[in-house]
Amino acid sequence: MSDPVVIVGTGLAGYTVAREFRKLDKTTPLLIVSRDHGGFYSKPMLSNALAGNKTATTLVMKTAEKMAAELGATVRPHTEVLRIDTAARQIVLQAVPGADAGAAGVSVSVAGTPGAASPDQSTRETLTYRDLVLAPGADPIRLPLGGDAADEVMSVNDLEDYARFAERLVGAERVAILGAGLIGCEFANDLLARGIHPTVIDIAERPLSRLLPEAAGQRLRERLEAAGVAFRFGVAVQQISREGDHLALTLSDGSLLVADRVLSAIGLKPRTALAQAAGLAANRGIVTDRYLATSAAHVHAVGDAAEVDGHVLPYVMPLMQQGRALAATLAGTPTPVQYPAMPVVVKTPACPTVVCPPPPGAEGRWQVTASDDGCEARFSSAAGQLLGFALLGSATAQKQALAAQVPALIGA
Ligand SMILES: Cc1cc2nc3c(=O)[nH]c(=O)nc-3n(C[C@H](O)[C@H](O)[C@H](O)COP(=O)(O)OP(=O)(O)OC[C@H]3O[C@@H](n4cnc5c(N)ncnc54)[C@H](O)[C@@H]3O)c2cc1C
Repeated sequence: MSDPVVIVGTGLAGYTVAREFRKLDKTTPLLIVSRDHGGFYSKPMLSNALAGNKTATTLVMKTAEKMAAELGATVRPHTEVLRIDTAARQIVLQAVPGADAGAAGVSVSVAGTPGAASPDQSTRETLTYRDLVLAPGADPIRLPLGGDAADEVMSVNDLEDYARFAERLVGAERVAILGAGLIGCEFANDLLARGIHPTVIDIAERPLSRLLPEAAGQRLRERLEAAGVAFRFGVAVQQISREGDHLALTLSDGSLLVADRVLSAIGLKPRTALAQAAGLAANRGIVTDRYLATSAAHVHAVGDAAEVDGHVLPYVMPLMQQGRALAATLAGTPTPVQYPAMPVVVKTPACPTVVCPPPPGAEGRWQVTASDDGCEARFSSAAGQLLGFALLGSATAQKQALAAQVPALIGA
């Protein structure tokens, strides 16, 4: 039997590669390793789960055991890849110490099943791979904050984070959110479903400032404010201190904001340490070419961790494109990834929004058409070529029509 194709990570990127690979190759052994529970869930649902009354447990669509059976794979949850030896084509694994499938309220059944190994292995293990796929995701960026409660700031980037967040919301009335980007705005809107009117703080002057032109950003702001979200723009949080049963946030303009909980949503940093320690090229993410190949033979990278042909795109559509292309390559047909226009739906029901940002550095200008119930912003070159767009409210109906006009970011 050949050495297995090994995938590191059971997020959407890792499992998409596995699924697509199994469609093309039913026999090569497949090993999927994750330091988390290994259950399949849709990460985008974390920021609208409160409105849907979801718990971390009900968000899990399939357990590691079920995924193993479905994929004809071995899934090793609660197991961390510590090291990669690219010359020997080997990885070193270790069970995560003290791992507990029920930790933080996430009860994911993974133990004692065929294909899904028990999490209680205590020794290091070395395994040889035929090909290695790195899909380790990204870490939330943490602001360097002063104050004795700086470590009480939460972020929600996986199921365990969500379980903790939901638990700590019980009895909370005032929530401050750091960052008015896509994730910050989505959580703000979602908290309204719990009767919490959050305050979102951002150094920028409007929400989604890197994705929306000014008029569209103002429209989003107005709609979210009308629904009950408060914003503090043009200020940074400097310090967070505990004062009795609440937290006091000191802002850069000298004012104070009181909150029961603080959620940070200021961005993600691709997890590159494992790859870098193995000598793989990394820049903003693990560097790959259009074939998702890293700088080491037989090692590939996908998902939030990857910088594909210069692009770090931490969204679902790019990782689906990557998964399909890499699966074909791993099954014997070298296939470059293609990135058509990939609009992102912002889950703010108070103001449905779709963004398809122009490529970084693109020359052109925004043109905004607004009506009472919608706002359409088009970014076009001097020659009139549509390069990106943003749609709000009723204008979101134009998503497909406009996406079809935007040239591919990475074409055939
Ligand atoms: C709240 C939220 C809402 C979002 N909403 C949207 C949306 O609406 N639309 C959209 O397109 N995108 C959205 N995104 C982004 C999208 O969810 C991510 O791009 C995608 O889920 C990333 O998948 P991934 O598999 O690369 O990473 P992850 O899901 O983070 O998976 C990484 C995996 O690697 C494992 N791992 C890491 N290091 C190791 C190691 N050393 N050994 C073993 N295992 C390891 C982890 O345990 C985990 O299983 C959202 C993201 C968040 C946080």
